Amino acid sequence: MHSLLRSSPLEENFSSKLCTSCNETKPKKEFHRILTLAQSKALLKKPNLTTRHTLYSTLCRSCRNQRKRRTPLSIKEIRTKITTGDIHKDIGENLIKQKREAIPKARARVMKEYWQKKKLGWQSELKANLQAQVTRYATRYYSYKNHLPEDATPNQNALLLQHSYNYKEAQRIRKDLMNRVQAGEVMAVDVQINELIKRRKAGVV
Ligand SMILES: [Zn+2]
Repeated sequence: MHSLLRSSPLEENFSSKLCTSCNETKPKKEFHRILTLAQSKALLKKPNLTTRHTLYSTLCRSCRNQRKRRTPLSIKEIRTKITTGDIHKDIGENLIKQKREAIPKARARVMKEYWQKKKLGWQSELKANLQAQVTRYATRYYSYKNHLPEDATPNQNALLLQHSYNYKEAQRIRKDLMNRVQAGEVMAVDVQINELIKRRKAGVV
């Protein structure tokens, strides 16, 4: 008795369909999409239509759903959807109202972010400039140290000390300048550490 209720392979073929996207055979109803009356009228261009129209897709429901957009609709797109019946008029108008109200807020937020970025701009530029110079001092010091012969001359040892001193000074200057920036001081982004070291050695600073 039970076996009679089962569909034969032939019937199965009639009641299922192959999806062109995922290549899976699924029940035919997965490929149906019954439009709303408003959608049906708009699609068929029959304003006096009284029955809902059914669309037959080559894609199964889950594949169709994956195609759904993730970005919010624009006001113009909502208007179109109201016209085609994809969105109920009241819901659509409400969405448009909400979007209109959100525009000044969004504009204010964009401007705030713009100024914050601009303010941060020179500070990060300065920071990157100082970092690049400190790295050069570090490279010079370690490179000299690693190539120093075991029987280094007093001159070579003195030069090593000089490189070590310059590297430490560069680090100190960077720290000092960044602290001053943190405290609100505005300065040129192209500060040259070697100029500051020279001035310090000359007793200017
Ligand atoms: Zn599919």
